[in-house]
Amino acid sequence: MKPLSKLVESVPGSPTTLMMQKGRELAAQGLDVINLAGGEPDFDTPKHIQQAAFDAIAAGDTHYPPPFGKPELLDAICAKLERENNVQAVPEQLLVTPGGKWAIYTALAALLNEGDEVMVLDPAWVSYAPMVRLNLGVAVHVPLPADDSFRVRAAQLEEYVSEKTKLIMVCSPSNPTGRVLTQPELDDIAAVAQRNDLYVLSDEIYEHILYDGARHRSIASMPGMAERTIIINGFSKNYAMTGWRLAWVAAPLPVAKLARTYQTQTVTSAASFAMVAGAAALNGPQECVHEMVASYAQRRNFVLEALDEIPGIRSSPIEGAFYLFAEFTQTEMKSLDVSQRLLEDGLIASTPGIAFGEAGEGYVRFSFATGMTDLEKTVERLARIVPTL
Ligand code: PMP
Ligand code: GLU
Repeated sequence: MKPLSKLVESVPGSPTTLMMQKGRELAAQGLDVINLAGGEPDFDTPKHIQQAAFDAIAAGDTHYPPPFGKPELLDAICAKLERENNVQAVPEQLLVTPGGKWAIYTALAALLNEGDEVMVLDPAWVSYAPMVRLNLGVAVHVPLPADDSFRVRAAQLEEYVSEKTKLIMVCSPSNPTGRVLTQPELDDIAAVAQRNDLYVLSDEIYEHILYDGARHRSIASMPGMAERTIIINGFSKNYAMTGWRLAWVAAPLPVAKLARTYQTQTVTSAASFAMVAGAAALNGPQECVHEMVASYAQRRNFVLEALDEIPGIRSSPIEGAFYLFAEFTQTEMKSLDVSQRLLEDGLIASTPGIAFGEAGEGYVRFSFATGMTDLEKTVERLARIVPTL
């Protein structure tokens, strides 16, 4: 048989998706596995959002929708961008996609030519670099300093800029570190982007999941940044809608135009009735979001306090999202091996830090968007296993 795609063979499968599935399979075998590998809210989608989709289906909304998004959803996104992010966009700048992953992918497809370099700030979400590669770009890993809370600084970014650099990818609140970019960091990124004529892809998918008064600001709202920023946002995390596969790209017009072309030749559109639910989520009451975030905050506090009592494991500050990015401080073991031991000896499914780039080595990521009972069990198991590593 002739060889298959060398390009696709050159990227790994998503470790978060695969570990999450492995955890599920072990649970289905009757094992008491605690699945903290994937980042997924344990809440079901709020009832009024579900109802909007039920009503849409019952009313026959089961046909191809407008490929770039239903007008009511595009309008709701424009209003949301203005209200919450101080970003002015017209519907033509938007593309509604089946999930945040596809939003990032189509944006990259619209932006990159072969060999273009993309700065990925490590530790970075697992799919950024592979998606760059699948779009024939080259991911340039910028290792953020762990001893400085993974802070972004202009001088460091500049070291990695070359003639070929096209784009900086940022994620705030960050998966996996939980950091929220501060104004000085946003200033630095914006300055580097403007000095070197770069685009910025701003992944804001965790924007509402913030703790201790942390504030999210979209870099697109900064002077001179709207024309070079591609915002990625969606419903998976903020509205507990991971299974609906619904997200969006908000981009400068020429980028949006190409991303739209790409979508018509690939997935066509997101699901019709999911878009109705999305509009209900954005236009409806937001208490559900506040309640979920308050619950994550309780779990975060529990995990942070409990971890303080276990020598050999230390958390980075968690300002947003719902991940504990924990450093294993008293072992030489690689994060892959630590994660494997936690699964074998503690039935805890986690994601090894190396999955987020070299800068994540020594760390393991645990999602705490799971029930308190599981978190209590996790802490007990960690207290038993960490001293043996
Ligand atoms: N960006 C980040 C940082 C994420 O953690 C995720 C979670 N999968 C996504 C994008 C994609 O989200 P979705 O589930 O909507 O594809
Ligand atoms: N974003 C989540 C995570 O990082 C879900 C899995 C995935 O899409 O990779 O775990």
